[in-house]
Amino acid sequence: MNTEILINLVYVVAAVLFILGLKLLGSPATARKGNLVSSAGMFIAVVVTLLDQNIIEFQYIIVGIVIGTLIGAVVARKVEMTSMPEMVALFNGFGGLASLFVGWAALSIALVTATVINPVSAFTLITIFLSILIGGLTFTGSLLAYGKLSERISGRPFVYSGQRIVNSAILIAVVVCAGLFIQDPSDANWLYLAVALSLVLGVMFVLPIGGADMPVVISLLNSFSGIAAAAAGFAIGNILLIVAGSLVGASGIILTNIMCKAMNRSLSNVLFSGFGAVKVSSAAEIEQGEVKPMSAEDAYYVLEAATSVVVIPGYGMAVAQAQHVVKELQELLEENGAEVVYAIHPVAGRMPGHMNVLLAEADVPYDLLLEMDQINPRMETFDVAIIIGANDVVNPAAREIESSPIYGMPVINADQARTVFVLKRSMASGFAGIDNPLFFKDNTRMLFGDAKETLSNLVKSFD
Ligand code: NDP
Repeated sequence: MNTEILINLVYVVAAVLFILGLKLLGSPATARKGNLVSSAGMFIAVVVTLLDQNIIEFQYIIVGIVIGTLIGAVVARKVEMTSMPEMVALFNGFGGLASLFVGWAALSIALVTATVINPVSAFTLITIFLSILIGGLTFTGSLLAYGKLSERISGRPFVYSGQRIVNSAILIAVVVCAGLFIQDPSDANWLYLAVALSLVLGVMFVLPIGGADMPVVISLLNSFSGIAAAAAGFAIGNILLIVAGSLVGASGIILTNIMCKAMNRSLSNVLFSGFGAVKVSSAAEIEQGEVKPMSAEDAYYVLEAATSVVVIPGYGMAVAQAQHVVKELQELLEENGAEVVYAIHPVAGRMPGHMNVLLAEADVPYDLLLEMDQINPRMETFDVAIIIGANDVVNPAAREIESSPIYGMPVINADQARTVFVLKRSMASGFAGIDNPLFFKDNTRMLFGDAKETLSNLVKSFD
C-alpha cells in the first residue's frame, strides 16, 4: 500500500473518532469517554501528519510539543470551573492565530512555487485569504471576549451609531487589499494591510457586545476558528484539517443557536443590540413587596415537612462550589421521605452544561436532573423550590414585565412552587443586570449568605 493511501486511511479513522467523540460528548455519562476518543483521533492525526511531511527539523517539533503540553497541562489543572469559558476563548483565539499563520505560510509557498504556466489557482488564493481573514478576526475577537468575560476590561457594550457601516467598510477594505495583493504579489504591503485590518475587525466586532453575551460570542468565535481551520485545510490540501475545521465550525454554530434559543433572542440581537448598555428593568418597575429573609435553622423546619423538593442551581452554586453539600442535603431530604429533583436551565451558569458538570462531579444521579420543559408543567406540585445562586434563569420578569430585556426568555417558573428559598449573598442582580421580582413574592424567603455556608447550616440542622 502506498504511503498516501495509508495516510488517508488513518485520516478517515481519525475523522470517525472525532465524530464518535462528539456523539459521546452528548451525554454527561459518556462525555469523558468522548473527550478521550476525540483526543486519540487528534493524536494519531498529528503523528501521521508529522511523519508524512518533512516540515521542519523534528527537534523543533518536539520542543514545541513539550512547551505546549506543559503550558496546557498547568493551565488546565489550575483553571476554575467558573473560568472555563474564558479558557475556551483563549483556545479559540490561538486556534484562529494558528490558521492565520498556516494561511500566510501557504501563501508564501504558493507564490514561490508558482510559475507563469502553473500559477496559483484562484480557489487556493481565496481559501488562503479566508484562513488569514477569519483566523485574524477570531484571534483578536477572542482575546477581547476573554478580557470582557474575565473582567480584565469593562464588560459594558461599546456602542456608537454607524458601527455596522464601519465594520462593513473594514470587511470590504480587507477584500480589496487581498485583491490588490493577488494582482501584484510583489507588493507585500497589501497583504500586511489585509492582515492588520482583519485583526482590527475582530476588535470592532466584539466591542459593541456586552459581557453578558460573551459566552454566545465565544461559541460563535469557536465556530469561526473551525471555519478558519477548514479554510487553512483547503489552502494546504490537508483533508483532515478540513474535516476537523468543519466539525468545529458546525458544532460551534449549533451551540450558538441553542444558546440564543434558550434566551429567546436572535443571533443578530445578541451581536448588534448592545444588550446591557442600559439598565432597563429598574426596581421601580417591579412590584416591590417585602423582602422576607429567613435563617437556615427556620428553613430546616419547612424542609423537614416537605415531601417534594426541586433544587434549581445557577452560577452562584459554581462560585460557592456548593455542589457536594447540595448532594448531602439531597440525601438527607430523601432519607426524610421527600422526592428531590434538580431543574436545569439550558443557560444556567456561564456555559452550556455547566450545572450538569458540577452536579456530576458530586455524583448526583443523572436521572434526577430534569430539563426546564420537564419541570415547569409540574412546578406547582413542589412543596419547596431551593434556588442556589440562580437569578436570571428564574426571573419571572421574563413572563410578567413586557418592558424587561429578558421578556419572552423561557425561565424556570420557580415562583410557582409552594415555598421558594433563594440562596444568595445579597439583593444584587444576575449576569444580565436585571432586577428580579421573585425576591419580593409572598411565597419567597431569602436565605442570605454564601450558598455553601447556608447549605452546610441546613445539613447541620438535619443532624
Ligand atoms: P446569574 O448570573 O443570573 O445569577 C447568579 C447569582 O448567583 C447572582 O445573582 C449572585 O447573587 C449569586 N451568587 C454569586 N456568588 C454566590 C455565592 N457564593 N453564594 C450564593 N450566591 C451567589 O446566574 P444564572 O445561572 O441564573 O443565569 C445565567 C446567566 O448567564 C444568564 O443571564 C444567561 O443568559 C447568561 N449566559 C449563560 C450562558 C450559558 O451557556 N450558561 C451563555 C450565555 C449567557 P449575589 O451576588 O447576591 O450572591
